[in-house]
Amino acid sequence: MLLRIAIDGPAGAGKSTVARLVAEKLGYTYIDTGAMYRALTLAALERGVDLQDPDALAQTLHAMGLEIRPGAAGNQVFIFGRDVTAKIRSPEVSEHVSLVSSHAKVRSAVVEMQQKMAKEDNVVMDGRDIGTVVMPDADLKIYLDASVEARAERRRLELARKGFHTPLEELMTKMRQRDEFDSTREVSPLRQAEDAIVIDTTNLSVREAVDLILDYCRGRGARV
Ligand code: C5P
Repeated sequence: MLLRIAIDGPAGAGKSTVARLVAEKLGYTYIDTGAMYRALTLAALERGVDLQDPDALAQTLHAMGLEIRPGAAGNQVFIFGRDVTAKIRSPEVSEHVSLVSSHAKVRSAVVEMQQKMAKEDNVVMDGRDIGTVVMPDADLKIYLDASVEARAERRRLELARKGFHTPLEELMTKMRQRDEFDSTREVSPLRQAEDAIVIDTTNLSVREAVDLILDYCRGRGARV
């Protein structure tokens, strides 16, 4: 029995870690859709493309030859044949990605790529609009949430591991801004699908969140 699983939620709710581990347990492919918007943002910043210009961004998307390679440690991301897996997590990309992803033209092109991936494979996909737009017919929809303090602290630790040292207060402010922007944009705003199961990870370990989701998968007939 195979399932298509959508995991949505705000920044830092634990989506990518949890989604990757759920996919690993099920033997499915994990797709990090945020990485796709981040890759486009990096390409646009590097080439001096106007981030307000949807046509120029769509052109960049087509030119950059985006490749997402699912792997045990997460998705490896390539643009123009270069591995940019680490670079797309930089604070500069995080700061501009919401603007890039807010354009309808950009979203429809990226969503089309995601829907193609979901057709070719059994996937666990994480993002903001997976249960609402990309896979409205997903077999299981999870909405992961957590307090802004918990989410900012996780992001701080994640960044520190990658060598970026940012104060917690600053991350909380940026996270609130990004949530606000992602939730109020006109096209596909971050919101919970009506049939999504909400899991608050503020006081849950990664393992507890993964086990909970695997229970729901079993409830849907998956053998884990
Ligand atoms: O998940 P992550 O924090 O890497 O996502 C980066 C940004 O990409 C989000 O803040 C949001 O603006 C955008 N995004 C989106 N739709 C998705 C995934 C990410 O708009 N499905």
